[in-house]
Amino acid sequence: MLDAAGLSAGYGGMTAVSGVDLALAAGESLAVVGPNGAGKTTLLKALMGLAPARAARLSLAGRDLRAAPAHTRGRAGMAWVPQGRHVFAALTARENLLLGALGGRAAGRRAAARAVAEAVARVPAVAPLLDRPGGRLSGGERQAVALARALCARPRLLLLDEPTEGLQPSAVDSLAETLRDLAAAGLAVLLVEQNREFAARVAGRAAVMERGRLAAAAPVRA
Ligand code: ATP
Repeated sequence: MLDAAGLSAGYGGMTAVSGVDLALAAGESLAVVGPNGAGKTTLLKALMGLAPARAARLSLAGRDLRAAPAHTRGRAGMAWVPQGRHVFAALTARENLLLGALGGRAAGRRAAARAVAEAVARVPAVAPLLDRPGGRLSGGERQAVALARALCARPRLLLLDEPTEGLQPSAVDSLAETLRDLAAAGLAVLLVEQNREFAARVAGRAAVMERGRLAAAAPVRA
């Protein structure tokens, strides 16, 4: 599904991600762990087209995305759940979800409405929140909305940046269950996570990132 080789990214003259090779099949989930500043967020941004990057290979479902801007990568099936969630405070949860649908593979308003309904079915915690403004949601609620918004794009690959940060244990449990279900349904999941216990519950493999380099992924004990 995802095939990246020799992926490097940085800011100005500074290299934050160096020569990363990464392959993910449909239904596979990989956790990237590592210390602060290791380049984990930059890796996700480079994949999504949100940080200046170069790669020998970068493709999703066989489509070469090396030169593609972020919105093209979204339409090709990449979706990003940013660290801190970034739910639009002035928009309702439903409007946040519609934005996700329009940025993804749904073409037109009816397809977008269908994508929203499907995403809510995948993340049921969002159903009672749909008419609430993003600014009135708790951390766990915003995480659920951000995940559902990413799913509205009907992604093939889901990129999540520290999704458990600041979550209550009950919200962590339900997130783990949702992510396992999504992978079982065929989504490829790439997760950056400081919480190693959560990473082990969700991901089939884990890889350590240090100083911009990603070590080979190893299987995780369930
Ligand atoms: P954390 O766990 O703290 O989020 P991380 O592993 O995600 O860390 P990155 O955020 O990718 O690491 O940062 C990698 C390096 O790039 C760090 O040295 C950081 O200071 C630097 N960096 C990150 N974003 C920028 C930016 N917008 N401009 C310049 N340097 C940046």
